[in-house]
Amino acid sequence: MSYDIAADIARLKKEKDAVILAHYYEDGDIQDVADFVGDSFFLAKQGQKVQQKVILLAGVVFMAESVKILNPEKTVLVPDLEASCSLVKGAPYADYLAWRQQYPDALAVTYINSSAEVKAISDVIITSSNAAQIIESIPRDRRILFGPDQHLGRWLSKQLNREFIYWPGSCEVHMLFNAKKLHSLMFDHPDAVVIAHPECDESVLQHAQVIGSTSRLLQEVEKNPAKKFIVATETGIFHQMKKLRPDAELIQAPVLDAGCSCNNCPYMKMNTMEKIKRALETLQPQVQMNDALRVKAQVSLDRMMDITSGKSVQWPAEFHV
Ligand code: SF4
Repeated sequence: MSYDIAADIARLKKEKDAVILAHYYEDGDIQDVADFVGDSFFLAKQGQKVQQKVILLAGVVFMAESVKILNPEKTVLVPDLEASCSLVKGAPYADYLAWRQQYPDALAVTYINSSAEVKAISDVIITSSNAAQIIESIPRDRRILFGPDQHLGRWLSKQLNREFIYWPGSCEVHMLFNAKKLHSLMFDHPDAVVIAHPECDESVLQHAQVIGSTSRLLQEVEKNPAKKFIVATETGIFHQMKKLRPDAELIQAPVLDAGCSCNNCPYMKMNTMEKIKRALETLQPQVQMNDALRVKAQVSLDRMMDITSGKSVQWPAEFHV
């Protein structure tokens, strides 16, 4: 009989009073053992709702850090502490602080794909699913520093008709999609709806009929009666898309020099079923954070949660470290 690691994980969840939150970009087997699957905003909110003492975040480390910041009393596990993100790596704290200090009167609107240290010097956190709502709540006379993803920022700037000062970061996965190849794929499939994540380059986004967060793209595939979609985001999302629309043809948007029709995030894919099982057995590795950092970083995350639940928030007049 073949070894059933999913059954082991289910048993360990009960024994350790643990819940698994997984991102859409994880492999399908990981999504299937998770209690909740979603985008980064959903996972951050879900972390505040679950009753279990242990939360295993099957995603990348900044997601687990956000859950820890908002739920300091919980044990938060990640299958692999090396599972970072090119946006996090491209926005080191000291450089981000120096940039932030050049504009003390501005408000720092920071993508959740950032380190806890960068969150601690930000005014509000956004995700691709709530960014518009949050930015619209900022008075029009306030300057906005937007980082670390410049492509998401530029797309939002156009949508909201608002100027930002950008940090020049990008997602190494979404940047791989190639506009020229996409254009010829569209020519071969004129009946396909092109959907794209706003972390893609503008040259790719200009071909998309629908642009949005992973949840928004999933919703489009579910509700749009079209039978064919070209999808410009990470391949893991196909798992849920196929479940919702087994009748639809899903085509990965092309990347330059690909050896496969896929575009996998190397950080998300560091997580495996074996690592999840080991993390639940040993309750390691845990996300650790000193209290001073956690309390500072919580301010910007709390503002995100407050605005998205309809509460009004106060904005600081000036930045102080
Ligand atoms: S897909 Fe891009 S933004 Fe998301 S974790 Fe991977 S590198 Fe970071």
